[in-house]
Amino acid sequence: MSPDTPQLPYPATRTALAHALADINGVLPGSVRIRHMRCGKQRCACKDDPPSLHGPYIQWTRTVRGKTITRYLSEEQLARYQPWFDNAKQVKNLLGKLETASLHALEQAEKPTKPGRDTESPAAGPTKPRD
Ligand SMILES: [Zn+2]
Repeated sequence: MSPDTPQLPYPATRTALAHALADINGVLPGSVRIRHMRCGKQRCACKDDPPSLHGPYIQWTRTVRGKTITRYLSEEQLARYQPWFDNAKQVKNLLGKLETASLHALEQAEKPTKPGRDTESPAAGPTKPRD
């Protein structure tokens, strides 16, 4: 969107964002790091000056139930799945915008009827459980 684009009304913004989300066909969690390393051999090109390091090692790290899981990808695999890693960022970005547009829409549509109702503080007194 260029800076000159007029501000869309919230329903149109939400629809546009929802459509952009619908175009996404794959999302992968975690992060990818490309590493070059030295080995343990005494005489190896990785000890030269300048060094010729081993790699690239493409390390894909993600967290599953609190545990870090690492998997190595080939360059070919990374090329194939890079769009899904990029999509993960895109989804996060779109979701944030969709939340903002939805919050604005709610605030416009639902004017508080009783002043202060939405800013009620729990410190004001004991609250009854809502059920
Ligand atoms: Zn080496």
